[in-house]
Amino acid sequence: MDQLINIAYIVASVLFIFGIKMLGSADTARRGNQISALGMLLAVIATLLAGGFDWTWIIAGLVVGGVIGGVWAQKVQMTGMPELVALFNGFGGIASLLVGWAEEAHYLGEGKMPAVTSVAVALAILIGGITFTGSVIAYLKLSGKMSGSATVFAGQKAINALILVAILVLSGVFVASGQVWALYAIIGLSLLLGVLGVLPIGGGDMPVVIAFLNSCSGLAASAAGFVINNNVLIVAGCLVGASGLILTVIMCKAMNRTVSNVFFGSFGAATGKTGAQVEGEMKAISVEDAFYVLEAAQSVVFVPGYGMAVAQAQHAVKELGQILEKNGAEVRFAIHPVAGRMPGHMNVLLAEADVPYEQLCEMDDVNPIMSTVDVAIVIGANDVVNPAAAEDESSPIYGMPIINVHEARTVFALKRGQGAGFSGLVNTLFFRENCRMIYGDAKQTMTDLVAQFKD
Ligand code: NDP
Repeated sequence: MDQLINIAYIVASVLFIFGIKMLGSADTARRGNQISALGMLLAVIATLLAGGFDWTWIIAGLVVGGVIGGVWAQKVQMTGMPELVALFNGFGGIASLLVGWAEEAHYLGEGKMPAVTSVAVALAILIGGITFTGSVIAYLKLSGKMSGSATVFAGQKAINALILVAILVLSGVFVASGQVWALYAIIGLSLLLGVLGVLPIGGGDMPVVIAFLNSCSGLAASAAGFVINNNVLIVAGCLVGASGLILTVIMCKAMNRTVSNVFFGSFGAATGKTGAQVEGEMKAISVEDAFYVLEAAQSVVFVPGYGMAVAQAQHAVKELGQILEKNGAEVRFAIHPVAGRMPGHMNVLLAEADVPYEQLCEMDDVNPIMSTVDVAIVIGANDVVNPAAAEDESSPIYGMPIINVHEARTVFALKRGQGAGFSGLVNTLFFRENCRMIYGDAKQTMTDLVAQFKD
């Protein structure tokens, strides 16, 4: 039986790896997701077949977790997905923490825990605890239930460093002596470190935190795998940990920031950078006048942002793209790596609307041709097209690569009003001579533009 279970674990691991590989391309991503899910089903069945537990708890956990997860996933709006994903990372973390804690209880009265197991217990609790409370803070920031900007106070870095050192010392005490009080102290301090570690990160740096916490949830699961000697949990945790770390680095590159700068730089709060004062006014244009410009355009680039997700405008955007193409224009969709509120957010929305994959452009490919583009249509994007990132050294986002829509001949910026983006910064694009604002809900504006072409 043991051999059979281990073979099932190997097959499950291979399915995970192929599944992740297939997520790398839009054509195979759906199938990749299904293959990975099949691997997980196999792993769960094999683990249940191994037995050695009380079925009542398994069934109770399945029912309670399944009902909560199912209802929540049904109810969540598409715009609420990023914060839900952030919270799910946190649940992964707390699950690993509880596994570590339970293992300690398991050994009570059964002699001393082997050193390898106690190291794994300390790691599962440390990483799981930080992941849980860090993810809860990320959830609160993303959902707007608390300010999304960096919260800093005097001595914050020193306090965080001290807590980390204390956790490491306590872990040493726990591994060496098995003292339970040390374990409880590690639990408390890890939970505190998660809160204090994520509080000073905010604004445009949040994508990096989300990716990092995702990685941490995997590493915590892997440590939990060592605790309970489950090979497939170790492998799956490592895969999540490694892919999350790769994503963290990709997100940092997209923001042109180093990992240490993100975690210790406090996004402008510590330096007091707020950006230069902007002079001039935002000029609006009516849908009718915008239509005449678009009708004559030979090349159009759509740049979606978080506002497109809020408005659920992707289908109307696709329709306008098709009409413009029929009208003889070359149409592209330029996606910034941190547009929206989660990695790949815009890709998912555009794929849902069946926007042809070949029309999607990466930032680095579209920027060199931007000065030849007749019209750039910014759909609820703000931070990712803010020229201050390239031009204003006093801006907290200075140095972050942007989609250079300001270089296009004409820019139409679709948003509801004069609200700032996630970073809270004023966007100098909207004050440019070549930029016109089309105020209103992005879906409504898109639908109105489509109607103009059809009339
Ligand atoms: P922004 O958050 O910068 O801007 C979104 C804009 O959409 C707002 O200015 C808002 O203006 C407008 N908007 C909102 N609702 C609507 C609507 N119904 N119709 C039209 N417009 C609307 O979005 P970007 O995508 O440009 O940038 C993403 C930001 O989020 C970056 O700062 C990034 O760092 C951060 N972030 C990204 C994550 C990721 O993984 N991608 C994760 C966490 C944060 P108004 O209110 O005037 O309508």
